[in-house]
Amino acid sequence: MATDCRGAQAPSRRDGRYDGGVNEPLDVLIVGGGLVGASLAIALDGAGLRVALAEAAPPRVDLQPSYDERNLVLASASVNALEALGVLGPGTPATPLHRIHVSRRGDFGAVRLDARELGLPAFGAVLPARELGNALLRRLDRCTALERFAPATAVAIEPGDGEAVTIAFACADVKRSVRTRLLVAADGTESFVRAAHGIDAVRHDYAQSAFVTTLTTERPLDGTAYERFTDSGPVALLPLGERRAGLVLSVPTAEAASVAALDEDAFIAFVHERFGWRAGRFSRPGRRRPYPLARMLAARTTAPRCVLVGNAAQTVHPIGAQGFNLGLRDALTLAELLRESHARSGDPGDASLLARHVELRAPDRAATTSFSDDLVRLMGNDLLPLRALRSLGFHALDRIGPLKRRFALRGMGYRGNAPTLGLMR
Ligand SMILES: Cc1cc2nc3c(=O)[nH]c(=O)nc-3n(C[C@H](O)[C@H](O)[C@H](O)COP(=O)(O)OP(=O)(O)OC[C@H]3O[C@@H](n4cnc5c(N)ncnc54)[C@H](O)[C@@H]3O)c2cc1C
Repeated sequence: MATDCRGAQAPSRRDGRYDGGVNEPLDVLIVGGGLVGASLAIALDGAGLRVALAEAAPPRVDLQPSYDERNLVLASASVNALEALGVLGPGTPATPLHRIHVSRRGDFGAVRLDARELGLPAFGAVLPARELGNALLRRLDRCTALERFAPATAVAIEPGDGEAVTIAFACADVKRSVRTRLLVAADGTESFVRAAHGIDAVRHDYAQSAFVTTLTTERPLDGTAYERFTDSGPVALLPLGERRAGLVLSVPTAEAASVAALDEDAFIAFVHERFGWRAGRFSRPGRRRPYPLARMLAARTTAPRCVLVGNAAQTVHPIGAQGFNLGLRDALTLAELLRESHARSGDPGDASLLARHVELRAPDRAATTSFSDDLVRLMGNDLLPLRALRSLGFHALDRIGPLKRRFALRGMGYRGNAPTLGLMR
């Protein structure tokens, strides 16, 4: 159960500093209980460490900003890890992804990936973030040794004494301080923790907004995800059970207000104009919600006794469906390092542990952030030589089996230094 920091599990010393009852700082304090922070807290449960999770929103799926209507493509390695952690199970409405179809309006060719042809059970699964949020909250409730503060907003970080750092939280009408040996920033793109440490964030505004909604399709998608690129932005159609599909439709931000104002029929006509008719006629669109799209890369991901994970460390364009998958790998790698260090009675905030995290995560971080960015630039560009190159690339990727398999395995999250939980089956 979560309490706000005035409750029974709140700071127990008179000076308001949390001491867990034994005058000791926490081992790990995770700020931000979004998809990544909650996953990390679960991965650390039972490790023997004293861990707390602090989240600004109350612990309800409808109040948590990141547990919303966006449909997430979970890479196969993420599905494995979330199953191994007891988050996903038979009751979770995840739709397996068997085929991926990538094309560009006006270009020759397409890339068709079929998991069975490549000897793979599935590329991953599609799950609304709200459902993943529900599953995470249920699993958090079953954690045996986790302190949870919610609603609790981190508002200040006091200089550390070398042994621990102190974070101040605003909880309703009171302010409380918590000491911890390691502070994990999982507080999203506008991370307070990152800013408080003076870590620069390099940003790029794509001047695009993604509308997320659901639709009924005339033809079942049958486990196929479509990604279609157009001059005015990409559109993805994701399978959600029998006849329902998740839509992610990017438009130039300047057009977002007029797309938001379309009535149902006009919106469906707009989607057909962008996506085509591969899934037959669309009907019954759900609520539409626009997300402004921007890239953010933190200049570094550590500070003394502090590490950044998930969107706080890097935020990518959703085009490649990589953001959460990448953030989960940040979190699982950190959990593995902390478990190993604890088994050797190590200090969870030790500089060498943080340096090892940076080292392990750097190749994946660099490759995945540039992959998502390159995809936006390459696919959004209408220059003739690029169109020819793209068509050649589509042609090669579609026909060269080993290339296809390598491409697919990387997308599924099996890449260098992958956290071992993701490899479980
Ligand atoms: C349209 C769209 C589609 C996407 N599709 C995919 C996809 O298919 N696959 C994929 O892998 N990724 C996808 N993503 C990306 C994915 O949603 C994000 O990468 C992921 O949600 C990041 O999780 P996070 O926990 O790092 O950050 P967030 O989800 O932003 O969570 C941060 C949490 O920190 C809390 N917080 C903030 N400040 C404080 C504070 N001061 N104190 C306490 N708590 C605080 C917030 O309340 C929030 O709960 C998509 C994104 C978008 C916009």
